[in-house]
Amino acid sequence: MKVSQMFMPTLREIPAEAEIISHQLMLRAGLIRKIASGIYAFLPLGYRVFRKIEGIIREEMEKSGAQELMMSCLLPAEYFQASGRWEVFGPEMFRLKDRNNRDFCLGPTHEEIFTQIVKNEIKSYRDLPLILYQIQTKFRDEIRPRFGLIRGKEFVMKDAYSFDRDYEGLEISYRKMHEAYCRIFDRCGLDYIAVEADSGAMGGSGSEEFMVKSEVGEEIIVYCDKCSYAANEEKAECVPEDLGEDIADCRQDGYNRCCEELPVQKKATPGVRTIEELVKFFGCSPKEFAKTLIYKADDRYVAAMVRGDRELNETKLKNYLGCIALEMADAETVKKITNADVGFAGPVGLDIDIIIDLEVGNMKNFIVGANETGYHLINVNVMRDFKPTAITDIRNIAQGDKCPKCGEPVNICHGIEVGHIFKLGTKYSEVLNCVYLDENGKEQAMVMGSYGIGLGRTMAAIIEQNYDENGIIWPISVAPYHVIIVPVNQTDENQVTTANALYSILLDNGIEVLMDDRDERPGVKFKDADLIGIPIRITVGRKAKDGVVEFKLRKSGEIKEIKVEDVLKEVRKTIEDQLNK
Ligand code: ATP
Ligand code: MG
Repeated sequence: MKVSQMFMPTLREIPAEAEIISHQLMLRAGLIRKIASGIYAFLPLGYRVFRKIEGIIREEMEKSGAQELMMSCLLPAEYFQASGRWEVFGPEMFRLKDRNNRDFCLGPTHEEIFTQIVKNEIKSYRDLPLILYQIQTKFRDEIRPRFGLIRGKEFVMKDAYSFDRDYEGLEISYRKMHEAYCRIFDRCGLDYIAVEADSGAMGGSGSEEFMVKSEVGEEIIVYCDKCSYAANEEKAECVPEDLGEDIADCRQDGYNRCCEELPVQKKATPGVRTIEELVKFFGCSPKEFAKTLIYKADDRYVAAMVRGDRELNETKLKNYLGCIALEMADAETVKKITNADVGFAGPVGLDIDIIIDLEVGNMKNFIVGANETGYHLINVNVMRDFKPTAITDIRNIAQGDKCPKCGEPVNICHGIEVGHIFKLGTKYSEVLNCVYLDENGKEQAMVMGSYGIGLGRTMAAIIEQNYDENGIIWPISVAPYHVIIVPVNQTDENQVTTANALYSILLDNGIEVLMDDRDERPGVKFKDADLIGIPIRITVGRKAKDGVVEFKLRKSGEIKEIKVEDVLKEVRKTIEDQLNK
């Protein structure tokens, strides 16, 4: 392709709307353009990268024995109603009606539809196992679409679904997908980790997320350097901190956890609401407080308690309660339930269910709100002063907490979730009656798995891990073109002839090559070549007349002079070496 003829609108300035590097570079390199919030168009260069990623995914899916098909995006409501997800998806689902007033949605994911198709066609154990997949646009009305392709309202997903006779079969299919995912992300040049994850709205018995470590990632990953433990924040099991004698030492005047249970006292704390204010007021550690948070879970209210210095994890609480919607109660409701302004809620005398974190269960003589504006209670003790409905893990894990597997301190970092694999079990096959006849002619529900990769998000994650101050550094496996030829002086006949000759040789040999034939200063051409991240640059300059050109690698910056007749060999070798890395 000749750059003079390309639709490649690069930008010099950093677009103000783009907060993260991948988004900025995708706009600057002319890979994508915004249509509306969370909705993007791929321009030619961007679409080439997209198709490379798609190609890698397709190859690895086929290798694993999965078969590609294509479902519709427009889906009737009834299958989602049968599975209960017509409600579960809530406002995230794009809903519409046809002219006969029938309900439809734009597919956010396709478990129900694959299950329906397989149910209609597969009858016997002889036809199983089966893994089917598609690469297709999904629609989700995300609350906060952001970061360009990372969180869109419309995005392309590879979604695969496995159907097995039993759980042993599921294990095998799941493993195959796990291995295919590792090969896909390896080939995309990503540094990733597979972490245990919460199954969320999808249901089922286990799942793993493929996370790309990145500061801009919205997910929090917990991992242990000593053992192989890795989980996302929602799944990571918290081991209660053993406070030992620490707090007893720092408190001399009554309410510490290490002595026997002391009598409850009410203390006036006018205007003292936040943990910081309480710490200042009482002059003690936040570890001596328990926060009481009032939540609305579907249509009832519950109280949840974590230690003063901890954060509640809403997914853990939601899973414990088994509710669909969970949100903090508004100030008015808090007042109704606790008889006090926000900031003074406590467990003593509350007549709603109280779920306390494991750590709160271990606390002694601690401080809570008094359910009276301007007052707190000190020396509160679990069981003596209030009876929790449950004592369970509902907090976020923190840096340095004990690894639940080996007890060493865990590490925490941010990650971008690029893929997610689930063991669904029979959640969908049972409700949609997706059954087969076993060897004894008995009906059995198929055991399913589901496996997703976001293509646009993967593309953004690749950039997040592969760039420098000059632009993108594409791994050769996904680069839009492998080589760019840059004649330095477009009016120098030697240079132009050599560049054209090289361009033809490379093209004829199936190399993906760009020729920057624009009548621009060399600086402009070099900047663009770096910005769009082409792995190999061949500069045709003054030495062209001696049959010598410059060969430069984008990633390492390594430059060497080579003879024109060696260019094809060198290019081939570089591509092969990098693809096999
Ligand atoms: P998230 O927690 O980030 O919202 P999810 O758990 O809803 O993601 P899945 O339903 O597991 O995502 O979808 C599978 C894959 O699809 C994800 O791993 C991700 O790569 C991609 N994906 C999901 N939502 C989006 C989105 N809004 N924009 C772009 N890609 C997405
Ligand atoms: Mg997920």
